[in-house]
Amino acid sequence: MPEQIVIIGAGQAGVQAVQSLRAEGYTGAITMIGDEAYPPYQRPPLSKAYLLGSFARERLFLKPDAFYREAGCELILNTVVTAINRAAKKVTLGDGRTLSYDKLLLATGTRVRKLSCPGAELAGVHYLRDIADVDGLQNVFKAGTRIAIVGGGYIGLEVAAVGAKRGLDVTVFETADRLMARAVSKPVSTFFAEEHAAAGVKLNLNTSVEAFEGKEKIEGVRAGGIVHPADLVLVGIGVVPNDMLARESGLACQDGVIVDQNAMTADPSVFAAGDCTRHVGREGVEIRLECVQNAIDQAKHAALAMLGRPKTYSEVPWFWSDQYDLKLQIAGLARPTDQLVLRGDPKARKFAVFHLRDGAVAAVEAVNAAPEYLTGRKMIADHIKVLPEKLADLSIPMKQIAQG
Ligand code: ADP
Repeated sequence: MPEQIVIIGAGQAGVQAVQSLRAEGYTGAITMIGDEAYPPYQRPPLSKAYLLGSFARERLFLKPDAFYREAGCELILNTVVTAINRAAKKVTLGDGRTLSYDKLLLATGTRVRKLSCPGAELAGVHYLRDIADVDGLQNVFKAGTRIAIVGGGYIGLEVAAVGAKRGLDVTVFETADRLMARAVSKPVSTFFAEEHAAAGVKLNLNTSVEAFEGKEKIEGVRAGGIVHPADLVLVGIGVVPNDMLARESGLACQDGVIVDQNAMTADPSVFAAGDCTRHVGREGVEIRLECVQNAIDQAKHAALAMLGRPKTYSEVPWFWSDQYDLKLQIAGLARPTDQLVLRGDPKARKFAVFHLRDGAVAAVEAVNAAPEYLTGRKMIADHIKVLPEKLADLSIPMKQIAQG
């Protein structure tokens, strides 16, 4: 049994590990170190309800302060870890202190990918990753303001939807030929493009930003050779994993800390969970996931493995996005070769796209369609085969379809 567990990163995965370690009977010391000013909080609402102003700050926190006291978890905030010494089993903090560990969990998450173009440093260019980012953006996120959004992925489009709702003049620039291309199928991209256009959002697909223009403050965005006037810019072009500490300590990293199916690195004393990791997923392919599900489940598995009771991690990944009154829910990982089956009518603003692989449901994207999402997720986990005609037939309830 380990006696000292150190967790680097005070986010969703970190707090889950604390909870699971105690639930599994671990009685030794736990120290969790975070570089932000806040205890672990939910990030998904930041670009949605929190930006909209309908979600109080207190509701973001994953646990009340009493949780850490009761769990006997020492929480060190506002502090970076500067090095891991795996030979000595110690970590060094920014203030010079060192902490010893028997087992170490890296739950360091990701940071935003920065745009490097002329004018990138101008005032008025914002990113969205943490509470402080949204609080900063909030000050200038006012009706009538012209906001240019770079990136038509989850973050960009969630901010676009909130912006449109709050009366901003919104323009989106997306390099690819469709929205959310990394995450959704073409029919879903098309549906969301129509919804954004109907809300007054100007979409520029196939358009890369060349430069930000302005003297001291942002005045415009140059894209496709044209300068589009803008008072404010929000860049949402993806994230990069925080794997530098692991890398510098000699652990294998490749767009993420490489872990096995027990969330363990090649060093049996060092584990990693959440967005910062790369693992072989349930389909046998190496992946790095950015989602709450992976943070929670992988942290649970890391806790078990740290206590000497490893259990193979092969959960179905799931994701969601809220844009306007549309709830997009996704389960499983699609492949370009999947057979797509549409259930429901996008015009009704309630439909699902199923991805069949070898006759079985491999992924589902559901829009305002919770039964399709929930049943679909279960069918993916159980590898249920189903005929496309049956899946497309709205007169057959999902419960019945789930039987295959
Ligand atoms: P996030 O979580 O930040 O939204 P995603 O990967 O979901 O990340 O979406 C990022 C989007 O940004 C992708 O659709 C990608 O094509 C787009 N993108 C990346 N670089 C640029 C760029 N320089 N200009 C415009 N769009 C970009």
